[in-house]
Amino acid sequence: MSMESVLSFMEVSGGEAKNRRMANRNLSPSELVTANELLAEIRKQLDQLSRGDETLLWALRRKVFKELTYDERGKPMKRRKLKGAKRKSQCGICPTCSEPLPEKYCVLDRIEAMKGYTPENTRLLCKKCDTRLQTEKGYK
Ligand SMILES: [Zn+2]
Repeated sequence: MSMESVLSFMEVSGGEAKNRRMANRNLSPSELVTANELLAEIRKQLDQLSRGDETLLWALRRKVFKELTYDERGKPMKRRKLKGAKRKSQCGICPTCSEPLPEKYCVLDRIEAMKGYTPENTRLLCKKCDTRLQTEKGYK
């Protein structure tokens, strides 16, 4: 679904649209150019800072990658706590298949990716349901 059709859908359906999943924000062609320029600049700086030291380049890249991931997903400790809270609030049940959640390898699923890992925007799924839903959405 294109952004235009999402927007027109929201206009037509009014308040009802608030309860539906919104498409993730995509970059426009000119924003994509800007993002690629930024990425090229970051790579150039990583090269300069590592001065030919491959292990330093690896460590610098990993640090930047990790911190940017935290910017989007939050720190692992916070997500672990949220997983525990969701397990409790869902009474240990996967909300899509209604089976008991396994002790390990459950997935904290964001209802809308851009809204982040909050109690209101997440649910704890069993691995099987997560894989099925991701496949349906075409992510994997
Ligand atoms: Zn399930």
